[in-house]
Amino acid sequence: MSRNSERAHAALASAPVADDALTLGGEPVARIAERVGRTPFYAYDRRAIGARVEQLRGTLPPGLSLHYAVKANPMPAVVGHLAGLVDGLDVASAGELRVALDAGVGPGDISFAGPGKRDGELRAAVASGITVNAESAAEIERLARVGDALGIQPQVALRVNPDFELKASGMKMGGGPRQFGIDAEIVPEVLRGLGDMAIHFRGFHIFGGSQNLRRESLIETQDATFALARRLAGDAPGPIELLNIGGGFGIPYFPGDEALELGEVSDNLAARMAEWHAGAGDTEIVLELGRYLVGEAGIYVCRVIERKVSRGQVFLVTDGGLHHHLAASGNFGQVLRKNYPVCVAHRVHGGPRENVSVVGPLCTPLDLLADCVDLGRAEPGDLVCVLQSGAYGYSASPHRFLGHPPPLEILV
Ligand SMILES: *Cc1c(COP(=O)(O)O)cnc(C)c1O
Repeated sequence: MSRNSERAHAALASAPVADDALTLGGEPVARIAERVGRTPFYAYDRRAIGARVEQLRGTLPPGLSLHYAVKANPMPAVVGHLAGLVDGLDVASAGELRVALDAGVGPGDISFAGPGKRDGELRAAVASGITVNAESAAEIERLARVGDALGIQPQVALRVNPDFELKASGMKMGGGPRQFGIDAEIVPEVLRGLGDMAIHFRGFHIFGGSQNLRRESLIETQDATFALARRLAGDAPGPIELLNIGGGFGIPYFPGDEALELGEVSDNLAARMAEWHAGAGDTEIVLELGRYLVGEAGIYVCRVIERKVSRGQVFLVTDGGLHHHLAASGNFGQVLRKNYPVCVAHRVHGGPRENVSVVGPLCTPLDLLADCVDLGRAEPGDLVCVLQSGAYGYSASPHRFLGHPPPLEILV
């Protein structure tokens, strides 16, 4: 009957509960719901984010800079919290740049990647003195013109579209033809042209992919990333001040996914960094992580409006759905739909249990938060929680679709 429950969700097995009620930041979710005042909402746990950074600091090689990729969760309170914990922020728009600067991060520790940067965005970036990760030769020329107009030297790193990809990734972002970065094979020619341009060359940004749970793939990609950077450095117009090696660390979303084991990844990084520093001197090496820092620290909470039975199948019809949490509905980059970890707030593991589907109020069969899962029995008014929702939730969802109110967000 329960086709999705044969294999366990790691996140549900380790979720913090008290009296079988889900807690976040030490508080029962029902109490947080009272504090928020209405459903649906996202809640993020500041202690869990802090603990994640601390765990990374304890594992990763000393001297490696840790950046937060703001697009994973741009809530200003979350970015402000992380700003005090990490070494820098990576932004992907002028809007995210404003959030990063508001969080008090110095421009030397902010970088801006992304294709199709508009003139206004380039001007804002140059005026604030952050590093722009240039995605094309044309963008470098536009940056030089902006710098000339403003009388400020642009700080530029080259985003390289590598000649390899991060294998077994949730989302591939390098290798083959891409809108991201400058193809590795033409980077030497671009580098040789930089000497005559009024920009300051800072280094390279090489991002191979995202949401990876396989340490061998990450290790292979890191090796290839350092080798590529070393090859390219020979044509650089100056020292490599900055080498952003991407990230790609994944989190377990689906039944059977296992948490990434970082020991070997970290040992390998330490070896590659030691080689790099022996050859090329004083480069800041940056690891950029989004979901790994915040994804597991957040939940999405909605309320059951009605229990509906259709031809024997129980549907919990809730006030939340795809319009708030596109990823949990399976429509954000998934090929085969799988269930996120979902639970009833006051009956995480205990009974009575039943097999249900959790749906939202939208008039589309895509509005499915959980398909045939084993949950504690829920009545109208009860709260349903989607775990692993701290990244690519609120900001990656089509809130305007069907005109329901947007969810709230709270950092606990
Ligand atoms: C999206 C993105 C990230 C963050 O990816 P996560 O999977 O959230 O870690 C990092 N770097 C770049 C360039 C990105 O586009």
